[in-house]
Amino acid sequence: MLVFKFGGASVKSAEAVRNIVEILKRYHDEEIVVVVSAMGKTTNALEGIIEHYANGNSEELNLEYQKLREYHLNVLSGLFEDTHHRAYTAVEELFDELGVRLAKDPTLNYDYDYDQLICYGELLSTTIIGHFLNSSELSTRWMDIRRSLKTSNNWREAKVDWELSTELVNKHFAFNGERILITQGFLGSTINDQTTSLGREGSDYTAAILAYMLKAKSVTIWKDVPGVLNADPKYFDDTILLEKLSYLDAIELAYFGTSVIHPKTIKPLQNKNINLHVKSFMNPDAPGTIVGNLSYDKLIPSFIFKMDQVLIRISPLDFSFINENNLEEIFGIMNKHGMKINLMQNSAISFKMIVNNDKRKLRLVTDELEEKYKVAYQTGLELVTIRYFDQSTIDRVMINKELIMEQRGLQNIELLIRDLG
Ligand code: ASP
Ligand code: MG
Repeated sequence: MLVFKFGGASVKSAEAVRNIVEILKRYHDEEIVVVVSAMGKTTNALEGIIEHYANGNSEELNLEYQKLREYHLNVLSGLFEDTHHRAYTAVEELFDELGVRLAKDPTLNYDYDYDQLICYGELLSTTIIGHFLNSSELSTRWMDIRRSLKTSNNWREAKVDWELSTELVNKHFAFNGERILITQGFLGSTINDQTTSLGREGSDYTAAILAYMLKAKSVTIWKDVPGVLNADPKYFDDTILLEKLSYLDAIELAYFGTSVIHPKTIKPLQNKNINLHVKSFMNPDAPGTIVGNLSYDKLIPSFIFKMDQVLIRISPLDFSFINENNLEEIFGIMNKHGMKINLMQNSAISFKMIVNNDKRKLRLVTDELEEKYKVAYQTGLELVTIRYFDQSTIDRVMINKELIMEQRGLQNIELLIRDLG
């Protein structure tokens, strides 16, 4: 059994959905669990709707809701000529359900409401695609992942209950004559059947979880890129495809911010020694990247860029040294406001952190820190991580840049730099 994951870009239009059928037909001898994200930018659109819902902007809310409905109906009409096809009723039912929820007053818990609404993206995409696969003679059963994947009630960042979910997943995800089981990425539910979500971009993680629990042969993530590249083509014009990656390399690259693989995806696969393929849905014959228990003859340097970074420098008001108590307090404040630290460094009298330029969180954090510390910050920086660095790779990154801070490990170097224009 294989697990395939199709992300938003691979299901964004009728044409894209037809392409999925072609891909699945190539694997005619395999049973496949297909994990799907919301179509195109639907999750972002739903986030907009949720924002309007919370703020009581009913006019904008209705406008955005209608836009989303039209988008999905448009994909439908590109797939089914017969407007009496059952898929139309199924989609309208989901929009009715969403409409009913949006007509109710928000609760006092934004994150709870978010999960109850955000799920419609994946429910819609899997419903449409499930019907289309069946009409394309690919026998498919639609599965509601929420019946099987049980989580904590940490809304928007739910933690998987591995024991219970393993039992339920194995009970429900059985092939009874059909070759394909289609289900939603990103979603789960609590023991009381309230919908949860696993964090943005969480569908890769769902694919890994299901592969782990069902002991799949492999996972394939179908993307709009040829595989994992050694740098983002936005910043480099001569990128190299990484054909083979060890689990550790994949974890490190994901951790430092390679956007192709969600960081949480690798661990479950590594634990069961399941290979991960990253392949292009536009070019399914190309081998793509394989992640596994692999060794290779040549280490290719990878570059990961984080733009719009902020350096925060903190020192005690009384000119004392930075000690463990200070650090505990500083980390507590960062954690409380959910501000992630991309890099940190300390000296006797100051502690430095590099963070993303999230203005709202930055304000909350600095306001609180300023009660006890001298706080200075510098914006407009770039953080570059080079895995398997050498001097020539550093030189390449440093062209026309000023070095603000660096941190060297055995395999990775991180350079905080400022563009000299
Ligand atoms: N649809 C969700 C998101 O956009 C999950 C995913 O695509 O992985 O974050
Ligand atoms: Mg995605």
